[in-house]
Amino acid sequence: AAAKTKPGTAVIDALIDREQERFLKTHPRSAAAWAEGKQHFLYGGPSHWMRRWAGGFPVYAAEASGAHIRDMDGHDYVDFCLGDTGGMCGHAPEAVTRAAVRQLERGATMMLPTENSLWVGAELSRRFGLPYWTLTTSATDANRGAIRIARMITGRNKVLVFSGCYHGGVEEAHVEIRDGRIGMRNMIHPNGVDHSAVSKVVEFNDIEALERALAPGDVACVLTEPLMTNFGMIPVADGFHRALREITRRTDTVLIIDETHTISCGPGGYTRLHGLEPDIFVAGKAIAGGIPAGMFGVSQEVANRLWKIVPHVNPRERQSAHLGIGGTLAGNALTVAAMRAVLEEVLTPQNYATMIANASRLAEGARRIIEANRLPWHVTQIGARAEIMFTPEPPRSGADVIATRRGDLETLLHALYMNEGILVTPFHTMFLMCPATTAEDVDRHTNVLGRFVELVRDAGV
Ligand code: PMP
Repeated sequence: AAAKTKPGTAVIDALIDREQERFLKTHPRSAAAWAEGKQHFLYGGPSHWMRRWAGGFPVYAAEASGAHIRDMDGHDYVDFCLGDTGGMCGHAPEAVTRAAVRQLERGATMMLPTENSLWVGAELSRRFGLPYWTLTTSATDANRGAIRIARMITGRNKVLVFSGCYHGGVEEAHVEIRDGRIGMRNMIHPNGVDHSAVSKVVEFNDIEALERALAPGDVACVLTEPLMTNFGMIPVADGFHRALREITRRTDTVLIIDETHTISCGPGGYTRLHGLEPDIFVAGKAIAGGIPAGMFGVSQEVANRLWKIVPHVNPRERQSAHLGIGGTLAGNALTVAAMRAVLEEVLTPQNYATMIANASRLAEGARRIIEANRLPWHVTQIGARAEIMFTPEPPRSGADVIATRRGDLETLLHALYMNEGILVTPFHTMFLMCPATTAEDVDRHTNVLGRFVELVRDAGV
């Protein structure tokens, strides 16, 4: 969270200190484990993302089941983070565990297709509407593959993204607009990439800026989520998708819709729910129930154009080029078996209905507290996902988020959540439901949010 200096910050800082001290006292095993981890991991844990928790250090997970995690110190958490979406099927979903164990016993990775892949390919086309698919090991990799294909078929270099986006470790997308200037998001290192040569960035929902940016005809693709979920949720304005599709078609720019998070909207993602027509559809994280996976689907037209450049050929014709996409483990038998279990038994219409009902319950509970206390905050809900933001209105763009974000309040709220047995994604205040989330889980959150409001009120913030 980008902490801002605003009135009340010193008071809030003191409250954060208090919550972190409480957290340290009540989580001695995790604290000791974190100290030990720092000796062997570059940033304390196996992945640097694991250090970002507001308690000051992460809890160490002992086990997880459904919507709950138990840590090393024996605390129970209702998990609304769900691995930042990778756990959206719930932890240890039975169908996935069964399928994965069965496949592990038959071989995890062979660089050969299995019969399950036939079912999965047909289901992906049926669900999401695009005819041809490729599997990868992560959503990042799927985005990289999609961008590569867009460049191959258009002969152009640039990737256009919206300020405040996140699409994984995709170099081209690490840009943002801050104070009217284009720079690196989160001051991330440019990594030797000349972003002025490979990226364009405009504000989300800004049709005129999009039109101007695509007019020169040097953009291979627009890469976007259907609505933004990684910078606080930024809803999409009426008519934006229509304009985006029309302008990208007119300028022969490939439209890549990244549904890695918005797949929480329903069985066919936001795309199916709202009739979007992406040229390339990307998803990942949740689709194999927590086993690493990503995928992208392409339209018939994209496939035809690609096949002209890299045709299907008999392997004896050695000139068949490799595409520079994915890796040895992509589409492995284990991942595919898990994907089948997810698509067949977990991410079903019935389970989505439960997840969405619980997200609505959470959003309504939070809105009741906000209204009763006349707080200038709001809640956005989209499908099985909800977000609380400390502004009266939803942002329309990344610029709005930058101008109004209350990093201090977010950190305090997150530190309190950690102490009260609630996990939310550490990057902003977003809640995701899984099929196992219950109304009781949601109500635990509503109670804690009520306590947060009392805490800041008593402190005079
Ligand atoms: N796309 C979107 C929209 C994401 O939110 C993320 C991860 N937060 C990614 C892609 C990258 O996913 P992964 O880290 O699994 O590669």
